[in-house]
Amino acid sequence: MSDGRDLSHLPPLRDVIATHELAAKKAFGQHFLLDLNVTRRIVREAGDFTGVNIVEVGPGPGGLTRALVESPAASITAVERDPRFAVALADIVAASAGRMRLIEADALTVDPVDLVPAPRAVVSNLPYNVGTPLLIGWLKRIGEYRSLTLMFQKEVADRIVAGTRTPAYGRLAVMAQWLAHCRNLYDLPARAFTPPPKVDSAVVQLTPRERPADDPDFATMEALVAAAFGQRRKMLRASLKSLMKEPEPLLLSVGIPPTARAEEIDVAGFVALAKAWKAK
Ligand code: SAM
Repeated sequence: MSDGRDLSHLPPLRDVIATHELAAKKAFGQHFLLDLNVTRRIVREAGDFTGVNIVEVGPGPGGLTRALVESPAASITAVERDPRFAVALADIVAASAGRMRLIEADALTVDPVDLVPAPRAVVSNLPYNVGTPLLIGWLKRIGEYRSLTLMFQKEVADRIVAGTRTPAYGRLAVMAQWLAHCRNLYDLPARAFTPPPKVDSAVVQLTPRERPADDPDFATMEALVAAAFGQRRKMLRASLKSLMKEPEPLLLSVGIPPTARAEEIDVAGFVALAKAWKAK
């Protein structure tokens, strides 16, 4: 019996798109990867998915989905908002020996943790208009995942992996790097997509960090980092006034000069500050 991993009989993705007249819709951020060598590479570089339950957001015509179904993953649950793709994806579902299912929904309204049991991972070529809010939502429960392997616009990927004292370092870098090891797996030029977007893309992988028992909670860190970077050119003694009356003693208590700016503070610095603030 087939293990549902041989998809060699499926037609090329370009034919699937032509047959079902699946013109890309801008409003849904549709830029497709039609080269299976590229999608297989994404899955290969994402690591070993043996026995893992994958959630894929936005399968579209199914290029990345095919590579996932070919992998050793236990199951693939694809969440797609645009109902036009159901017919194109039905062939993959049929070939998958029950390992793949399609859920027609807005990914912002479903939590992958509720969709599939652990061990679980998210793999997605994200729609650019909802990529960041989806990531923030998944980060809140990052401990529930083996990994998140996500394609973003390069500019967003840079903001996830950025180091201190760089223009890209900000809220997203601190929150993501606080909760996860973040690495840029590789960059993809705009021409790899059909239709090509205006900018290049990059695949980022996030894997959960161990969290100490006294780690601050998400809302505390989020509020602190938002205030600090809300006025990134201001010194922290001024920018944190939106949160507290007197930021100076708090900053000094954790060894941060009150004249420092947010972009100079590393993740450990923000964690120390959040803990001291909550202990007040
Ligand atoms: N995975 C396909 C690929 O790599 O060729 C398509 C990627 S395309 C960048 C993004 C996909 O996400 C589209 O199929 C789009 O319809 C879908 N999408 C957009 N917004 C969505 C949402 N809120 N929830 C679920 N899917 C969404």
